[in-house]
Amino acid sequence: MPENFVSTRVNFPQIEKTNLMGLNRQDMAVFFAELGEKPFRVSQITKWIHQLNISDFDQMTNISKALRAQLKDKACIKALDVIEDQISKDGTRKWVMGLEDNNRIEVVYIPEDDRGTLCISSQVGCALDCSFCSTARQGFSRNLTVAEILSQVWLATRLLDQEIKPGRKITNVVLMGMGEPLLNFENVMKAIDVMLDDFAYGLSKRRVTVSTAGVVPAMDRLSERHDVQLAISLHATRDELRDDLVPINKKYNLKELIAACHRFMATRSPRSRLTIEYVMLAGVNDAKQDAEELVKILNGISVLINLIPFNPFSESGYKTSSNNAVHRFQDVLMKAGLMTVIRKTRGEDIDAACGQLVGKVADKSRRENKFKAPRIGMNT
Ligand code: SAH
Repeated sequence: MPENFVSTRVNFPQIEKTNLMGLNRQDMAVFFAELGEKPFRVSQITKWIHQLNISDFDQMTNISKALRAQLKDKACIKALDVIEDQISKDGTRKWVMGLEDNNRIEVVYIPEDDRGTLCISSQVGCALDCSFCSTARQGFSRNLTVAEILSQVWLATRLLDQEIKPGRKITNVVLMGMGEPLLNFENVMKAIDVMLDDFAYGLSKRRVTVSTAGVVPAMDRLSERHDVQLAISLHATRDELRDDLVPINKKYNLKELIAACHRFMATRSPRSRLTIEYVMLAGVNDAKQDAEELVKILNGISVLINLIPFNPFSESGYKTSSNNAVHRFQDVLMKAGLMTVIRKTRGEDIDAACGQLVGKVADKSRRENKFKAPRIGMNT
């Protein structure tokens, strides 16, 4: 049995059961092989859980009663608890979801005319301490398990299905919620396995996006493991400023990050684009000169630039760039031939916008100790 198989188990009072919610195809195959079952069970159960959204073994009508009994004995299908469910006036929906250890994470659904995007979390809190992000304020608590990551998609699917309008509502998943997905590499990769699996969510690889602050070695590993989209939270074009805004830059500076972007794109089809995220902070990184510098450092990489108006939170110390400044910045990039969009802020009235997700961690003292520990470096 693979060593990391254990991480998908949850503890019950008397017996340890495997939470099938967190098993990708390979792990599910190991599980059924141990039960002496045939491999076709993998697709069968995956479909029940992730496509039909069923968590009760008794509803799995094409499974014999004997196997159902065995499954009930050895396994469970356990999702997170929904603690809050808020809908913004623009239709954006935010859920606060509770974990077994009483920590909380946030998940956001953004409906648009031609798509529905689910923004999910990969960690409880975040260790990267980006100066303009409210998640950073709570420090890092822990990585989410595969089951906890997938459970966000599973629950959102279920809750959206209860709406009156029928049809598939989640077409895109972005790992842009709380946490740094590339610092929870293996669990995020396994969760993506299931998102792309035709017997599960069957999402197109072009519609799953991993967003990173620039964990360079993990970008290389991602390029080998999954052909999904990558977004880089760049935000600055000089090391001095980026060290300040995105402190992981002190470990992997701009030169290394840009080199990693070139390497990453060399593994992709010529038509694909790397997303560059750039938060617009008034008087900090929004001058015409910054835009010109950005054009220079992105030279030779096929990109789509997302300018993100800064979403304020209390005591952030930053201001959102003016509309003029954002448009002037966009003009410079567009004139240089770089496709650039200004990201519309969604769900502001329910604190669901980028960088406003705070969740809640249970054990403050433990958290604060962790926050003092070295903040980066795990799994890299
Ligand atoms: N750790 C990953 C993913 C989470 S953050 C990353 O850094 O990419 C998702 C995006 O929201 C990042 O581009 C981040 O820089 C941006 N963001 C964070 N705080 C923000 C804020 N207050 N306003 C606007 N965007 C913000």
